[in-house]
Amino acid sequence: MPKAGFKSITISESVYDKFYDVFQKNKDELSMKGVNSFAGYITYMLEDKMQKDKTFARYAPKLEKISVDGDRVIIKDNIKNRIAEVAIQRGELYCQLCEQKNCFHIGFVFSLPDVYEILNSRGIKHPR
Ligand SMILES: [Zn+2]
Repeated sequence: MPKAGFKSITISESVYDKFYDVFQKNKDELSMKGVNSFAGYITYMLEDKMQKDKTFARYAPKLEKISVDGDRVIIKDNIKNRIAEVAIQRGELYCQLCEQKNCFHIGFVFSLPDVYEILNSRGIKHPR
C-alpha cells in the first residue's frame, strides 16, 4: 500500500524497464532539474507532456508545421496566411516573420515534440 497522499498504478514490466532505463541513463541531468527519484521522473515527464499538449492544442490548427531542417523550422500561419520561418540563431530561436525571439510561432515550435528534442539537446529553452 502506498503512503497517505499517494496512489499506485500497475504497469507492465516491459514499460517499467523501458522508462527505468532512460531514468538511469539521465540521472545526473535529471538531478540538476530537481528530479531525484524514479517516481519523480515519471511525474515530471507527464507534467511536461501535458503542458506541451496544452500548448499544442492552443496553437493548432492556426499554425501548421511544414518542415524542419537543421536549424530552421518552417511554419504555415493560417491566421495571417503567411509562412513563418523560425531559425536557431546564436543559441536562441528567432522568428523571421515577426522579427522577434518570443512570438506565437516560437511558442508553437516549442510545442512540437520532435523539434523540442533537438532544442533540448542544444540547451535552448523557451523564453517565458
Ligand atoms: Zn513569429
